[in-house]
Amino acid sequence: MNHAEKRLERYGSDSAAILSAAQKRIFNSASVSSEDCVFCKIIRGQLPSNKVYDDKGYVAFLDINPFSRGHTLVCPKAHGETLWDMKEDEIGGLFTAASKVSKGVMHATGAEGFRILQNNGEASNQVVAHVHVHVIPVMMEDKGKPMGRIKVGPEEMASLAEKIKQAIG
Ligand SMILES: [Zn+2]
Repeated sequence: MNHAEKRLERYGSDSAAILSAAQKRIFNSASVSSEDCVFCKIIRGQLPSNKVYDDKGYVAFLDINPFSRGHTLVCPKAHGETLWDMKEDEIGGLFTAASKVSKGVMHATGAEGFRILQNNGEASNQVVAHVHVHVIPVMMEDKGKPMGRIKVGPEEMASLAEKIKQAIG
């Protein structure tokens, strides 16, 4: 069964019918296989990452191009490109893991708020074709400011990851 057929089975033909041709093209294209997927490579340990969380179904690591110190990505271990590739209980599990991770991120960074961001499709700025939830800590001084990528050196990244990992417990 390909991506499009799996989604059709999950959501039914009524929900598939409301999609425009362009939406179908974006959401039905399996652009990257698990073998070539950057996040699957991280999950398999073939690429390095600053990992902060790992359980049976989900994993979290620091974003290499963060919007703030402690910006973390939470992913399902199973490869899927968008939220529509996941079953409802898996989506629940992903956001439960993101909530758990957010507490560690907040504790470790001393941030005063956090954003949850989840992009689907190229138009939304989804860069890696493997479902992920961004946990972005925000300081009060950044309230209302547009988000921009910041540079964080490798040593600080490693130390942030360690603090977040310990805070999650
Ligand atoms: Zn993947």
